[in-house]
Amino acid sequence: MFDRFQRKIHYLRVSVTDLCNLRCVYCMPAEGVSLKRHEEILSFEEIEEIVRAAVDLGIDKVRLTGGEPLVRRDILTLVGRIGAIQGINDLSITTNGVLLPRYADALRAAGVDRVNISIDSLDPARYREITRGGRVEEALAGVEAALNAGFEKVKINCVINKTPDEPDAITVAGLGARKGIEVRFIRKMDTVKGEFWKVIGGHGGHCASCNRLRVTSDGRVFPCLFSDICYSVREMGAADALAAAVEAKPASGIRSNNQFYSIGG
Ligand code: SAM
Ligand code: SF4
Repeated sequence: MFDRFQRKIHYLRVSVTDLCNLRCVYCMPAEGVSLKRHEEILSFEEIEEIVRAAVDLGIDKVRLTGGEPLVRRDILTLVGRIGAIQGINDLSITTNGVLLPRYADALRAAGVDRVNISIDSLDPARYREITRGGRVEEALAGVEAALNAGFEKVKINCVINKTPDEPDAITVAGLGARKGIEVRFIRKMDTVKGEFWKVIGGHGGHCASCNRLRVTSDGRVFPCLFSDICYSVREMGAADALAAAVEAKPASGIRSNNQFYSIGG
């Protein structure tokens, strides 16, 4: 699929839940998010149908995200169903890592090629503060589990205030160097204020080469993180909603009401 600006759109990010086992200060409200009604959330059948429709339209790269994807009940069944779809060359997941000791091997077996793990500081007190209560040892155990599970690639996402020279970021860079893991530094964004940055060491935020669409856990397809334009797969059908999103994809984003925990980053 090519959009109006001749960008090849072949990457779909699917948020499988808004819920999370952490409460990062830049992502979630302290009290968490209100539980959506069961019927609002896409079923596994619907998610599979969307991904199949997307692959038919030319998507060959899929990332599962959230919220925290690993807190969705029975996530391995969903991953297995997506992993079995012919035509996906690259299936990845973005996770805070906390549940990876439990799930890493099974995710690999279910067809996940690559994992991104989000860690913003190795300092236990800072990690607890940033995640509002998380334990960095758990995320680090998740990194170990991912490394042992034999994924093609394990990366770390590290959210920074401004520069990778900040003390927290330096601790994470050290982990990357020790373990031979790539670290992507993501400057804190604010969709509402239109504060938008390119990912350091990644492809995110490079509008001229943006290749992605995003689907929320309630079935809306967003062509751009920094735009409120979206199309409902339930109202339009998956193929039409995806095609409409590609057609409407803006040259670059400006601002939006999107929340990271909902749209998945
Ligand atoms: N829970 C998973 C995790 O944390 O990796 C997946 C969902 S999370 C919304 C996806 C990515 O978005 C994470 O790497 C997170 O650090 C990043 N993120 C969340 N809020 C952000 C913000 N305000 N600015 C920049 N990145 C953000
Ligand atoms: Fe949860 Fe990920 Fe958001 Fe942190 S960034 S609150 S781990 S969804």
